[in-house]
Amino acid sequence: MTISFGSAASRQVISELQAAGYEAVFVGGAVRDAELGKKPLDIDITTSATPSQVKEVFRHTIDVGIEHGTILVLMHGEPIEVTTYRSETTTSDPVYVTSLREDLQHRDFTINALAMTVDGELIDFFDGLEDMKRKIIRAVGKPEERFQEDPLRIFRALRFSSVLDFDIEKETLHGMKALAPSLHRIAIERIKTEMDKLFQGQNPSRAFHYGREIGLPKLLPELFVAFESLDRYTPFLDARHGFAAVLAITDMNATDLARLFKLSNKERRFLKQFEDAYAIRTQRSFDLWDFYSFSTDILEVVGKVFNVNHDDFIVSKQQIEQYKKQLPILQRTDLSFTGKDLVKWSGKSGGKWTSDWIMKIERAVVYGQIENDAQAIKEWFINEISREE
Ligand code: ATP
Ligand code: MG
Repeated sequence: MTISFGSAASRQVISELQAAGYEAVFVGGAVRDAELGKKPLDIDITTSATPSQVKEVFRHTIDVGIEHGTILVLMHGEPIEVTTYRSETTTSDPVYVTSLREDLQHRDFTINALAMTVDGELIDFFDGLEDMKRKIIRAVGKPEERFQEDPLRIFRALRFSSVLDFDIEKETLHGMKALAPSLHRIAIERIKTEMDKLFQGQNPSRAFHYGREIGLPKLLPELFVAFESLDRYTPFLDARHGFAAVLAITDMNATDLARLFKLSNKERRFLKQFEDAYAIRTQRSFDLWDFYSFSTDILEVVGKVFNVNHDDFIVSKQQIEQYKKQLPILQRTDLSFTGKDLVKWSGKSGGKWTSDWIMKIERAVVYGQIENDAQAIKEWFINEISREE
């Protein structure tokens, strides 16, 4: 089968490496995804040329991951990752090898050990295509050895079972179970990257099921106890929704969870907001102020998570947007007055009191107690402030 693979720039990178006397092919996830009829996200090229040889062939290169044997080639402005054949993906120093077969042998699963020539010819030493047709994740070689080399592969298998909705082959699952305790050695950042993809996959429940089968909730409860009951919270809108569900079913708070998984500041803020909104929702229905102060994003995820245990409560994104549309204002800057007006109207000098009053008026406007009109606000404000004095 001949398919046109990769961008023109990536094909040119391969052609130029070949013209310089080296081997070069497309490899890994991109080839797998193309065979599955999906558009590959990132294209990887593997070559017999060493990193310094790659740099001699191309004028514009960047040493992005030279410590792993990866050079970024800029071809017509497009960045293309080129990695030297290697037999170890996990040791700190890469061990370069001379044959493609040896490189593929050290990749994790048969479906990820596929390569493709620039002419679109598939190279498949480990029956990856057959496994792909049968929807199976199978370790390349002896599973236990492979998981011992890099225990992250155990979690990657779970990730692919969700993303692709594939089964895990029996011996492979057996190896995963035997080596599962060694997952504790793996840097949390690597687990988090896979967790994000797992949450966003086609069938996260399948991954939770396998996770239970290999004992993760008991072996590493801190990280995986939620795998006991996360199934009920699927499908997830995105990875943040997955972490929000974890928050709802464990006794961790947002700060602890963010610290544990080394979440970004943005992710941590999302979880904090979720936590606040979810706490309100478990007490009572959202009111106008809640619809005003929380983003559509947060309200939607709270609705999804809350709904799992309260099936009469449904808030869709459309409904949330409808509620928001009915609000008199959407943000503070929509108010038809400023702190300066308060100073002018009161005849007092400015100070912290102005921000307290802005907040009070903002609430009154959102609740429909005053119209968002400078004159109406002025009257209300003068009246209220004189009552307080
Ligand atoms: P995605 O579509 O999410 O990018 P991917 O399979 O391309 O999935 P990457 O992390 O981008 O995953 O890795 C690219 C390729 O490198 C894989 O397809 C696999 O061949 C190999 N690989 C990645 N991580 C490992 C690992 N921990 N052990 C062995 N091989 C790996
Ligand atoms: Mg990839």
